Order: sequence, then C-alpha cells, then structure tokens
Amino acid sequence: MKSQLRPSLPLLALLVSVACVEASGKKQKVDVVSDGALTTRRLSTSTGSNGIATLEVPLADDETSFGVYLRATSGAAYPTTEAIYSPDGAMVLSWDQWYDEYSLTGAVYPEAADSMLSWPVRVEDGPLSSGSWQVEVAVTDDNGNYMANQGLEVVIQTRTDPGGIDAGSVTVRLVYAEDLDQDEEVVRGTEAAIERWREVWAAYGLELVLSTEGSDIDGDLPSLDGLSNTVYEASAQGTDGDLMVLVGETIDGSLDAYGIAGGIPGPLVESGRGTVVISWLANAGGDGRFSDDDIRLYGETLAHEVGHYAGLFHPVEDGWGAWDALDDTPRCQARGACEGDLGDNLMFPYPVCGWNDCTPQDVLSDGQIGVAQRYTGTL
Ligand SMILES: [Zn+2]
Repeated sequence: MKSQLRPSLPLLALLVSVACVEASGKKQKVDVVSDGALTTRRLSTSTGSNGIATLEVPLADDETSFGVYLRATSGAAYPTTEAIYSPDGAMVLSWDQWYDEYSLTGAVYPEAADSMLSWPVRVEDGPLSSGSWQVEVAVTDDNGNYMANQGLEVVIQTRTDPGGIDAGSVTVRLVYAEDLDQDEEVVRGTEAAIERWREVWAAYGLELVLSTEGSDIDGDLPSLDGLSNTVYEASAQGTDGDLMVLVGETIDGSLDAYGIAGGIPGPLVESGRGTVVISWLANAGGDGRFSDDDIRLYGETLAHEVGHYAGLFHPVEDGWGAWDALDDTPRCQARGACEGDLGDNLMFPYPVCGWNDCTPQDVLSDGQIGVAQRYTGTL
C-alpha cells in the first residue's frame, strides 16, 4: 500500500432516467444521471462464488474516459480492481503488474471499504475505443483472501472531453471546518495559497475552478485511512463531478501532515474518503502566522494533494524502492540522487528544505500532466 500522506517532516440541468442493463449475467436496475460532459450510473451488485464481479462500462463515441467507484456494503471488506478489458476483449490492465514496485492506480490496492478507478491513467493507456468495456472487480478480506457473495455499491462514470485532452479544468469545493472561514489569518493564507496552486497548475494547462464555503465540521480532520461519516456527508453536498478540499486545524490530532488525499485517484461522488484534508496550522509552520514561504508551501501542498486525487503517485516513494508507472520520471534509488533529480517535482514525497528555505516544488513531467488531464474529474 502506498502512502498518500505528505509528511511535514523531515526539515522540512440534470437528466435522470432508470434503465436495466446486463451485468454479471443478472438484470440490474441502474440509476443514470447525465450532467453535460459527465454521465453517472449507480447500481448494486455482489461478488460471485470466486469473490469477483464483472462490470460493464458503456463508452459512447464521444466519451474519452471512465471511472468506477466501489463501496463494500459490509465491514472489513476491501474492494479492488482486478482487470480491465477493452471492447475487443484485450486485457489492458491486470492488478499484479502494478503492485508494490511500480504504481499505476490506487484501485488495485486494498486500502479501505471503498475504491476508485479512473481509466485511462497514462497517455499510452488511451485513447479509448467506444463500446462495452469490462472491469473485473474483487472484494478481499484483511489477509487478501477473496470474499464470495459480498455486496457492492457501484458508481460508473463516463465523460466527454469538450476542452480537448491537453486542456482541462478541475472543479474544487474548498470547505473550511469549524468556522475557519471567520478567521482572518486562515482565510488570508488560504486565499494566497490558492493563487500559488492556480499558478502551478496553469503552467501545465490545468485550470482550477474553485469555490469556498464555511461549515461546522470539527477542526480536527480524519486521516482518511477509513471511511468517515463526516466526510461522506460533506462530499454528498457537492455534484458528481467536483472535488472537495477540507481545511481544518489538525489531522488526526497532530501537525505531522500538511495534507492527505482520500485516494490515488480519489472518488468524485459521495464517499467517506471523498476529500483532500489539509491542516492549515501545519502549513503555517505551527505558529499560526503565514510567512511568504509558508504560503508558497501551502499552495504547493494543495496542488500536490489534489494532484494525488487526480491520480498522480509520488515519482519515487520515500524509501527509494518504489516508483510511479511513468517513463519520464527518473528511477532514482537513494535519497541524495532522488532529491537531486526530483526535489523540485510537485509530486516529490516531501518538501526539500535547507536551513532557511525550501526548494520550490512546481515541476510536472509530460507523463504526469497526461495523468492529471485524463482523470475522470478533469473536464
Ligand atoms: Zn504525497
């Protein structure tokens, strides 16, 4: 399992219809909502005696990507993606090719009671042909054993790409916890950090469409390793195509993390992990005041965590033995080499800092940009 945590150490107009489709050989009721570029289908299914279910994803001629969100209906059950088959029957993804050493999608890792797949991931995984795609999904237990007859809530999303594949916009709802929208210093720092985030993304053709709102959510945010009712309810307030960022004071009672993303990629629909959580206080350096350097780091934290949510792994994990699935990020194998090769990359696992300041982290490779542009939430 890959960490989605960005450590602060060291140094550091809706159409609704109901249709029946064939999936897993059974007639199923499918609830369909179409909102412009994005079509969202909700259904229920269960794994067979082998612990696996097959989902059909109908891709129209003008649609360019799809997402599959899974939630297990019983506890201690972990849904994952096993394999993806194109309409001509070719296997284009098998989970065991992308486990541990090289990571393509968090959907193959049993991390929680829900799971999100967005396809294609890389430039070379597309473009997709239209027709019926098949996604094999599994439910496993704590020890990785397949679980038969397990209920799954499924959300299948397909989208067109009106702006073209090399331009994209991401719609983000930034929600302040515990009336932090009334705190002048938090709002000043956050708004300045959003401008840094906007600048970093704009250089790569990613437009940020952002709204902010207050809430009475507790200021100590969950670390998203399990499903949270608070996060579920807050994420259900949005649309099927937006991302949520929750800004609180601490995460899991501490200042150890600047921010955490609820998946690589993260869910677009209502989910108990459907957010990025951010500790404003960790980003302010713990003293409650934002310096200019704090603001830059806060902006890069937002861009980094939402980058995870849009499907980006760290190019190399801290530990130097696991990498992303991209050909154009270096395969460095030691701390010094990795900080040298990748220390300025937006998705480096931690800020690289000297005595006085930290290296700006705002670089994305063409391969990384390609991933973010293909995420189902990037329109
Ligand atoms: Zn990270």
